[in-house]
Amino acid sequence: MPEGTINVTVWGENVHDRTNEEVKSIYPDGMHSTIAASIRKHLGDAVSVRTATLEQPEHGLTQDVLGSTDVLTWWGHMAHGKVEDEIVTRVHQRVLEGMGLVVLHSGHLSKIFTRLMGTTCALRWRDDDSETVFTVNPGHPIARGVPAAFSIPQQEMYGEYFDIPQPDELVFISSFKGGEVFRSGCCFTRGQGRIFYFSPGHETYPVYHQAEVQQVISNAVEWVYQPDKHRYATTSCINSPLGWMNS
Ligand code: ZN
Repeated sequence: MPEGTINVTVWGENVHDRTNEEVKSIYPDGMHSTIAASIRKHLGDAVSVRTATLEQPEHGLTQDVLGSTDVLTWWGHMAHGKVEDEIVTRVHQRVLEGMGLVVLHSGHLSKIFTRLMGTTCALRWRDDDSETVFTVNPGHPIARGVPAAFSIPQQEMYGEYFDIPQPDELVFISSFKGGEVFRSGCCFTRGQGRIFYFSPGHETYPVYHQAEVQQVISNAVEWVYQPDKHRYATTSCINSPLGWMNS
């Protein structure tokens, strides 16, 4: 593959997608396939995108797959508890080493996100609403090409208080019919790794087919990607910090 290609792995829980007729009608090949296709469409030759799902051996996240992943995206909801702790530890380690992570919607309660945040990541929610996403950091790379505000006609309400640490940067804030507000686009750094959380994406609505949402996710893939960080892979070798002085 060409040098500079971002290796993206789109992880999907893929449970609603197979068991709920409404979700199947919106995402016949699963949400992960739609998300993967949208990243390919927006980033073209700059990316190589594959998918992985919960039911695969090691949830599709083997050492080999993660070792060659620059950016991982994560959507999960009803089966967070079925993700093996060993795999969560593996993903966590890779984020600390510099792998980028984009966590979507109900992924806020995933094992990997709550472990990285160190808080409950709980929030207020209500079904059957509409969302307006406001760009509050228009100069940020994740806001590139994204309107000052855009509507998602059907969406679940996610509202404050959202129990996360203060984000390093806030890119989007959303509001809802009930007047609630929510920090819907948040940047974090853990170890060498960049993390972006983006809340739109309830499974029974066609949110991942929407152009603005696809643009944000694709921008986030580019932003969390840090090609120069991989050489700082964490190590237990005590001599390594001195190696550069002698070379
Ligand atoms: Zn939802």
